[in-house]
Amino acid sequence: MPRKIAAGNWKMNGLSDAMPEAIAIGAASEGLDCATVICPPATLLARMGDAGVTLGGQYCHPAGSGAHTGDVSAPMLADAGATWCITGHSERRADHRETDADVRAQTEAAWDAGLTAILCIGETLEEREAGATLDRLMAQLDGSVPEGANAENTVIAYEPVWAIGTGKTATPDQVAEVHNALRERLGPDMALLYGGSVKAANAAELFALANVNGALVGGASLKADDFVPIMRALS
Ligand code: PEP
Repeated sequence: MPRKIAAGNWKMNGLSDAMPEAIAIGAASEGLDCATVICPPATLLARMGDAGVTLGGQYCHPAGSGAHTGDVSAPMLADAGATWCITGHSERRADHRETDADVRAQTEAAWDAGLTAILCIGETLEEREAGATLDRLMAQLDGSVPEGANAENTVIAYEPVWAIGTGKTATPDQVAEVHNALRERLGPDMALLYGGSVKAANAAELFALANVNGALVGGASLKADDFVPIMRALS
């Protein structure tokens, strides 16, 4: 059986006064039948070590160290307390022109540092409207999932680009079609997360789908009052 995971992507949000939210999320995660992971900005990782919540990075450079000003490596994330790392988020693919090959190299770097990768794939609105959704997603898997991916080192997050931060959630039928195809392709054990405007109001409906094992949540993960009901809907 795939594990159940509620992952929060804080993106470029959060200063030190966000600590109480992380502590409240950590406290609420105790006793739940799902893993809870918060991916804060890199600046907060080390200080969130005492918050009682599992931590992840939002990106890692393929190299362990070197002349890459402004970047963060997977060993640095692990050293700061992370055990997970998002790779291939569509905002990174768009803002930093990250390719499938980049995502593949980052995922391997995450594994080498002992991190579990939350590897993101997703189609644009144009691709969906052209009927190319599944072809696009399978091509992303071909290009970005390294050899050796398994249910322990990798989780796949399906995040339609048009649903991220827009308030538009994919319908249960749309999510089911994609997740069923991913399950067929990736086997019975890998956790498959949905991401794209997940909130308390739609979480239970999404988690009721056979091949949805959790969510990668952006906006609704910043506040415990919003995220804890999603965690509970999954548990
Ligand atoms: C995300 O950033 O991965 C995401 C799904 O964002 P939101 O929940 O805000 O749409």
